[in-house]
Amino acid sequence: MPRPISASISLPSLKHNLAVVARQLNSFSQQDNRVAPHIWAVVKANAYGHGIHNAVRAFEQAQGLAMLDLNEAVRCREAGWSKPILMLEGFFEPADIAAFRDYSLWTTLHCQEQFDMLKATGPGRPLHALVKLNTGMNRLGFAAHQYADAYHQALAEQRRGVLDTVGKMTHFARADDNVSVTEDQFGVFLEATRDLPGPVSLCNSAATLTPRYWLWTPPEFEQWVRPGICLYGSSPFPNQSAHDLDLQPAMTLRSQIIGVQDVAAGQGVGYGHSFVAPQAMRVGVVACGYADGYPRHAPNGTPVTVDGRPTHLLGRVSMDMLIVDLTPVPQAGIGSSVVLWGHDGPSVDQVAHASGTIGYELLCALAPRVPVSVQAE
Ligand SMILES: *Cc1c(COP(=O)(O)O)cnc(C)c1O
Repeated sequence: MPRPISASISLPSLKHNLAVVARQLNSFSQQDNRVAPHIWAVVKANAYGHGIHNAVRAFEQAQGLAMLDLNEAVRCREAGWSKPILMLEGFFEPADIAAFRDYSLWTTLHCQEQFDMLKATGPGRPLHALVKLNTGMNRLGFAAHQYADAYHQALAEQRRGVLDTVGKMTHFARADDNVSVTEDQFGVFLEATRDLPGPVSLCNSAATLTPRYWLWTPPEFEQWVRPGICLYGSSPFPNQSAHDLDLQPAMTLRSQIIGVQDVAAGQGVGYGHSFVAPQAMRVGVVACGYADGYPRHAPNGTPVTVDGRPTHLLGRVSMDMLIVDLTPVPQAGIGSSVVLWGHDGPSVDQVAHASGTIGYELLCALAPRVPVSVQAE
C-alpha cells in the first residue's frame, strides 16, 4: 500500500467558484446596464496546484485562460482549449514569438525589449496583445509617461499585420485591503489610457469580487477580469473567509494516523521538543510532512481535522510526518482519517494564516509525490 496521503481535486467545486464569479459579474452589469466583463481564469503554477488538465475541464465556461509558462499553454491547447490564452509575462526571447503564433496565444507587452523583438520579426499569424501599464504595483509594465508611446508602437505593429487586437492592462497591488491606493492606481490607468482604443484588463480576484472596482471602467470598453485564487476556493481578502464568499475548497489534502503515542507530562514531542506536554496526553502521528507541501513553519495549534473533529498540530512538522493532539478525539487510532485542509477540514486559508503565509503558497506547493485524484462530480 502506498502512504495514505492524497489530494483530491473537485471539478464541481472549481465550476461552482467560477459560476459564483460569473453570476456576480452578470448581476452587477445588468444593474449598471452594461455588458458583463469576460473572464480570464488564471491557471498559472499548474492551476495553483490543481492541475492544468483539471482547470481546462472545469473552466470551460470562462472566455479565456491566463498563465505565464509556455509549456502550460501548450498543455491547455493539447487538452482541447481552443478559446483565448493570455500569457501574463509575454514572450521572453524572439524564438518564443513563433510558438505564440503556432499556439495562438495572447501576449502581454510590458517592456521596450519585447517591442524590439516584435519589430524584428517577419510576417506570420498576428498576435493579440495587451500593453501593460505600471500604475503603482512597480512590477511589470510601462511607466505612465511612456505608455502612449508604447501603445502607438503596438498600433503600428497592428498596421504592419504583426499584431491583431491591441488592448490595455494593469495590475492592482492592494485590491484586497486598500481602497484609496486602488483608486489612485485606477486614476493613473484612466489618465494614461483614456484616448486609446481597445479592450481593458485590470482586476485580479480581490478586484473582481469588489464590483465597484471593475465598474470604474467606462462601459464602452470591452473588459476582461483575471480572477485566480478565488476560483480554487481560497479567499483573496485577509478579513473575509472563502466560506463567506460562497467559495468551495477545490483541493482537499487528506491522510491518516499511522502512529499513536502516550506522552507523559513534561515530555517533549518531535524535533527540538518545541512542544512539551503539560499533562499526560495521547498524540497521533500523521503521514504528512513538509516534503508533501505542508508548511514546516506551521506552529503548535494549527488546525487539523481528525475523524471529522477539529484538533491541532503539536510540535515541529517533519519531512514526512506531523503530530496532532488526540485529546479532542479519544476514539481515534491508527487508520483514522485526517484532513489537513479542504472539504470537511480546516480551510487552506486557516492553515496558511496560522503559518504566516497565504493560501496561494500552500496550494501551489503541493508536492509532486502526493497522489492526486480527481472528483468529476
Ligand atoms: C496571478 C495574477 C492574477 C490572479 O491573481 P489572484 O490574486 O490569484 O486572483 C491576475 N493578474 C496577474 C497579472 C497575475 O499575475
